[in-house]
Amino acid sequence: MQQSVITDKFGRALQDLRISVTDRCNFRCRYCMPREIFGKDFAFLPKEHLLTFEEIERLTKIFLQLGVRKVRLTGGEPLLRRDITTLIKRLAQLEGLQDIGLTTNAVLLGKMASDLKEAGLKRVNVSLDAIEDQTFMQINDSNVKTQPVINSIIKAKEVGLAVKVNMVVKKGMNEHQLLPMAKFFKELGITLRFIEFMDVGQTNGWNFEHVVTKKEIYEEISKRFDLEPVNPAYFGEVAKRYRYKGTDIEVGFITSVSESFCSSCTRARIAADGHFFTCLFAGEGLNVKDILRDGATDDEVKDTIVSGWKYRDDRYSDLRTEETAKNRKKIEMSYIGG
Ligand code: SAM
Ligand code: SF4
Ligand code: SF4
Repeated sequence: MQQSVITDKFGRALQDLRISVTDRCNFRCRYCMPREIFGKDFAFLPKEHLLTFEEIERLTKIFLQLGVRKVRLTGGEPLLRRDITTLIKRLAQLEGLQDIGLTTNAVLLGKMASDLKEAGLKRVNVSLDAIEDQTFMQINDSNVKTQPVINSIIKAKEVGLAVKVNMVVKKGMNEHQLLPMAKFFKELGITLRFIEFMDVGQTNGWNFEHVVTKKEIYEEISKRFDLEPVNPAYFGEVAKRYRYKGTDIEVGFITSVSESFCSSCTRARIAADGHFFTCLFAGEGLNVKDILRDGATDDEVKDTIVSGWKYRDDRYSDLRTEETAKNRKKIEMSYIGG
């Protein structure tokens, strides 16, 4: 396959693509889609504004020509998108695509896991912020206990998907769950990654005081377990990796706030309505869906993406202040896809 490497203003190559397949979700996590805002009257995207599977496939092919090798599907909750396994099957057949992953709250994963695996999905990142029901239910605000999520995790592993668990840590929300989560997933032999609470979007009331930093999390985990560092698997790997001494079971830290990693950020994002974004904290994206629907050729679409990437100078997390967190216009995580 013809492949080019395109780099942005800071020399960062375009390597990964995240595609949000829906802005809807069956959870209302307090830090992501607070019910007061994402309530009954919230205007989610109408169906005709969502990229179709044909459009997603076409765009993915174009990104593959530009050097992307890995795609992750996200949302909203990607398993709510009708026929998602069909989309995965189509993407898995694309020449040059080495890896397809999916990020999910896993409520629907248990019953879909074997079909997803068969369709060509390789890995899932399951979001779970607590092991204790009461805390988890307070966070998801949707009356879902932890057991269905745990069952889905076990099922996904059984069918041969690579599984990691992501835990957003927010002060006053779930720090008391750090050690119970670490113990639980160590025993299951599953990598747990701690994510610092971020100021994505405008609705989650973020400030620096809510952040539990990597250092604080590391100290808490070290009270009980000895950790040793593990080298990154590839350039641009987001998580800082450690393993429990004497085992090959890992934990990771995603330190967007305390140790930003913009200098190695190689990730492009397509929102559910086909806007192209070069940063999770962007305020505006480029409407690629309209370009596709206006009859552009693949080369014209490619040129648009290339110029968007070439002019990219995003480094929001390097520059984050209380002021930018509060006043800068940023799109919501459920729309751009986390
Ligand atoms: N619904 C799916 C899920 O929860 O896995 C996929 C979309 S969700 C937006 C993707 C990831 O973003 C989840 O792991 C979620 O916990 C994380 N996330 C959402 N808001 C966040 C925030 N403010 N700070 C850090 N992580 C956040
Ligand atoms: Fe839904 Fe995921 Fe956001 Fe929770 S974090 S509200 S599961 S999109
Ligand atoms: Fe990449 Fe933007 Fe996050 Fe920096 S802030 S790592 S540029 S997505």
